[in-house]
Formats: sequence, C-alpha cells, structure tokens
Amino acid sequence: MDFDVDESVTALRAQVRAFLAQELTPELDEEVYRSGVSHDATFVRRLAERGWVGPGWERPDGGSPLGPYEVHALVDELTKAEAPTYAITTTQMVANVIRAVGSAALRAEILPRFLRGEVTIALGMTEPEVGSDVAGVRTRARPEGDHWIVDGQKMFTTNGHITDYIFLLTRTRPDGPKHAGLTLFLVRLDQPGIEVQAVHTLSGERTNIVYLSDVVVEDRWRIGDVDGGWRALMIALQDEHSAPFSPHLARLLEAVEQWARESGRIEQPEVSERLARWATALEVARLLELRTTWLAANGRVPVAEGPMSKLFGTESLVRAAEDLTELVGPDALRGRLDPSAPVGGRIEHALRFSLGTTIYAGTSEIQRNIIAQQGLGLPRG
Ligand SMILES: Cc1cc2nc3c(=O)[nH]c(=O)nc-3n(C[C@H](O)[C@H](O)[C@H](O)COP(=O)(O)OP(=O)(O)OC[C@H]3O[C@@H](n4cnc5c(N)ncnc54)[C@H](O)[C@@H]3O)c2cc1C
Repeated sequence: MDFDVDESVTALRAQVRAFLAQELTPELDEEVYRSGVSHDATFVRRLAERGWVGPGWERPDGGSPLGPYEVHALVDELTKAEAPTYAITTTQMVANVIRAVGSAALRAEILPRFLRGEVTIALGMTEPEVGSDVAGVRTRARPEGDHWIVDGQKMFTTNGHITDYIFLLTRTRPDGPKHAGLTLFLVRLDQPGIEVQAVHTLSGERTNIVYLSDVVVEDRWRIGDVDGGWRALMIALQDEHSAPFSPHLARLLEAVEQWARESGRIEQPEVSERLARWATALEVARLLELRTTWLAANGRVPVAEGPMSKLFGTESLVRAAEDLTELVGPDALRGRLDPSAPVGGRIEHALRFSLGTTIYAGTSEIQRNIIAQQGLGLPRG
C-alpha cells in the first residue's frame, strides 16, 4: 500500500487553506453555526470556479481533474474548517449515481449544472419507520401514463428546505422481495404536494421531514431502472460509508491544546496523557481514511474498509469529546454564544456534534454488521 501523497497534495492543501482564509469569513462561519445549515450558494460557486465541485471528474473545459489523494486532501481541509459543504457533498453522491445509471437526458440536465455548483440535492432515503433497514421504505410511486404519482413521508432530509431536488427512494412494487421493488427518482422540491417541516437536532444541525402527497413526477426524472433502485442506491451508500470523520477529531484536539495553553495547564501530565491518547486515535483514523482512498484509487470498492474507517473515526470522536470535556471540566460545557466559553465553545459543540456522527451515514451497529458479513464473511446475525 503506497499513499501517494506527493508535493501536489501539499500544494493543494496550501491552496485550499488560502481559499478558506478568504471565503470562509467570520460572518459566514457564524451564519452556518446559528442556522445549523451547512450550505452557502456563493461559497459553493467559488469552489466550483476552482474545479473543486466534482473535483475528481473530467472537466468540460478540458481542465485536469484532481487525483484521488488531492480530492482526499481537499475534503479533509474543507471538513476540518467546517466549511458549508454538506449540501454539495450529498449532491456529489447523487451525481455519482446519475453518472453511473441515469439516462442520457438526465445526465445532460443535471451533471453540467452540478459541476458549475448550480444544483443541490438532498438525500431522501430515511422514513419515520424506516432507517437502517432502508429497503423497507413505504413511500409509494404508482405509474400513471408517462408519469408517476408519489405519496409518502421522508424523515431527516437534511437541507431539504433549501435544495432544488430530493433523491427519492420509493416503493414501486408492493409485493415480492423488498429489495426488488424499489425505484429512485430525482424530484423537484418546489412543486405542489410537497411540504417541508423543520427538525432541529441536538448537534445544532437543521434537518427536515418531507411530506409528499399526490406528487406528479415525470418518468424522465427516474434514476436507473424501474424496480432497480437497490443497486443504484448502493453506489450512493458506499460513498457515504467512506466519508472522512478524522478532520472533526483533529479540530477538537487543536481546540483542547489551545485551551491547555491559554489556561496554563499544558504542562500537566494528565493533559499530555489525554492529548497523546487522542492524537494516536487521530493517526489511526487518518490511516484508515487513506486506505479507503488507496483502494478506490486502485479500482477497488472499500466495501468493509469504508465502514471500518467510519466506525473508528466516529466512535473515536465521541469518546474523545467525552474524555476531553471531562479533562477541561464544567467550563467545557459553555457554548459558543456564551462569551466566557473556553476556545469559543468549540469543545461543547464537538460533544454535541459527535453524537450524530455514529447515527447518520449508517449507524455503528450497521457498520459492524457490514464489516462482519462483507469483510469477515460471517453469517447474517
Ligand atoms: C443529523 C442527522 C442527519 C441525517 N440526514 C439524513 C439525510 O439527509 N437523508 C436521509 O435519508 N437520512 C438522514 N438521516 C437518517 C439516518 O441515516 C438514520 O437516522 C439512520 O440510518 C438510522 O435510522 P433510524 O434513525 O431510523 O434508526 P433505526 O434504524 O430505527 O435504528 C435504531 C437502533 O437500532 C439499531 N439497529 C437497527 N437495525 C439493526 C441491525 N440490523 N443490527 C443491529 N442493530 C440495528 C441501530 O443501530 C440503532 O441503534 C440523518 C440522521 C441524523 C441524525
């Protein structure tokens, strides 16, 4: 295994940091924190101008795509800075599916706009009664002439109140095996029959419930085959399982180190012992992420390695946030809006934020199931 991290990667990191210093202004950072919405149209357009939306894709203007380790470094820097990139990340996941199985017309309609940073797509898989067992979705799509009628409800549709489309997983065949009766659609969110309601999470992120009632969807918005949604969905879910979480841990460690220096506790053995413990976990998390990048760069799908990376990164983040909160003491629980909060409330935010990371993109239990079955070849539990 050779992580081909050469000077082009180092140079790119420097470019991204310079970009962030200019574009991620304190005002934008404040707006993202207060709203809980990780998207800003201007910021995304600026990313697109640099070729950093769909960064690994061939560019229509002939420019070179970034290599896999450059893409990894770009995502790492943006995530560490908490840049407002969540909506464009979900859009990239769906764009990958459309590129793989979408019709020529759908590809022509969506993909160039995606690369220009002009289109956003929320993920519509989860429902009130259906989360981990996503193949059990009940939202129905019924054929009627050259279109479909959709009825149902989606839960935790993050950014669904601001995105152009929802990537909608529906049931098109009510009988037979559940995995064989699913179809995916790209559905505009600003049309009759759709209502979006806010859900505010403990971590401060805003997400949504989306109600769909007699929504008319033309067949040209179907992604992939009728009843063939499961295979297409796997493309998106594997991307999700490989998302990096080590940048969040790195940010937390930097905050606690800064607190230790500012509070004069940096020389205490307890401080160095705990920081060293989590620095080691950070290193392992980074290596696991680089391993998934290496596999993808070598044409292999990180079926179990992505889940290993997600599981380790997120569970380390939760444990580190708890351990370092205990180290700092009750003051660590002061939030960003409290002027007396240590290091601008970053420790308190990390503690709340960490909890959701072991739930979305597949819970820890589901990641363990995938590792056991796909990685170790164990029977289904
Ligand atoms: C902040 C946030 C943002 C989200 N954003 C989106 C989004 O944009 N789009 C979207 O579609 N979804 C989104 N989700 C939903 C997320 O993907 C689901 O919450 C997740 O898949 C778990 O589903 P659930 O909440 O229904 O829990 P359940 O599936 O009901 O699970 C409940 C518990 O049972 C465990 N469990 C379930 N099945 C098994 C099993 N087979 N083996 C062992 N244990 C099991 C789970 O691990 C969990 O601990 C988001 C969630 C959060 C918290």
